[in-house]
Amino acid sequence: MEKDTNQLQLIPTYCPNFRCLSHKGTLEKFFRKNGIIRTKKPPFSNQRYKCLQCKTQFSSNTFSLDFRKRKTELSENILHFSMNGMSNNSIASLLKIAEGTVRDRLKELARQSLIFEKENYPRQIDEDVAYDGFETFTYSQFSPCYVNTAVGSRSMFIYHNTFSPLNRKGRMTEEQKMKNLELLKKYGAYPRNSVFEETVYVFQNLSNLAPGRTLFMDEHRAYQRALRSFDFRMDYETVNSKVRRDPSNPLFPINRLHSLYRHFFSSQQRETISFQKHEAALLEKMQIMKIYRNFMKPKFVKKNSYDPYAHIWSPAMYIGVAKKVLDFGDVFGVRRIKTQIKLDAKEEAFMNRYYPYSRQKIV
Ligand SMILES: [Zn+2]
Repeated sequence: MEKDTNQLQLIPTYCPNFRCLSHKGTLEKFFRKNGIIRTKKPPFSNQRYKCLQCKTQFSSNTFSLDFRKRKTELSENILHFSMNGMSNNSIASLLKIAEGTVRDRLKELARQSLIFEKENYPRQIDEDVAYDGFETFTYSQFSPCYVNTAVGSRSMFIYHNTFSPLNRKGRMTEEQKMKNLELLKKYGAYPRNSVFEETVYVFQNLSNLAPGRTLFMDEHRAYQRALRSFDFRMDYETVNSKVRRDPSNPLFPINRLHSLYRHFFSSQQRETISFQKHEAALLEKMQIMKIYRNFMKPKFVKKNSYDPYAHIWSPAMYIGVAKKVLDFGDVFGVRRIKTQIKLDAKEEAFMNRYYPYSRQKIV
């Protein structure tokens, strides 16, 4: 047992004090051992350390995802169950834990996923990219939304999946119209420009990383406006949305991903009417899914005669940002702190669960 517990001890790679020079990580030995504490939960002993630079004390547990958590080692199961379509509710009952615990762990996994993404994102994109929105909803059909998705044509790497709330439009029964008006009166409309703004954010990012490559999209008006709003340095091609999306259609990679989303979302909806109670929950699952699909799963489940590595390589391997399909420990083994990386305003809002337009309380 002693041997096993030693294997679980993490060796510090950075100092948790954000004012310290060793905070962003260092290869030099910046700490010394500072005694061992026995604990009641795994790994039962906790090595303590002291930073040689700033004298901050910390322990092996500081770098574990179970840091300050009562129940340890749940996160890995929660990740796999959630990413394979189980609702928080059924995960909770399967693992005999509270639903709040599931939400709490997913929130932490999502934050860690963003930090991981920031550090493992490609510095340039050497392939064409397809872009489109996936329509779903949060809380109820009165709060539809778009998940704006950019995916690599060859790698299927999800470069972006950002979120846009939409205002409910189109055909409604009299009763639904009343309900919709009531909600509008109470909360006001969702931001009307969100698809445009999110698209500009994604396009600017892609344009910087993939100049000269082609971006495929349908003829959505907000996309066209976004293209014209700044100096867009990619080529682009619009594809009529009515054209059949078979493998010869450049938007086909998007469709594959969206059918995966559809499966994921519908299985999450089946059991509970309170599906994704808040935008935060949806965004967090999308963020985790990006890392899960990009790094932790092969591109396709089945063998593909045109693409002999599709069932072996992850999308991240296709674009050269990973050397193997990563497991839980590779991605989440060492808990990171957001002050170690540079976040833009949108990412900062994500970390703080800041959604000023939301009609729901965050739980
Ligand atoms: Zn330090």
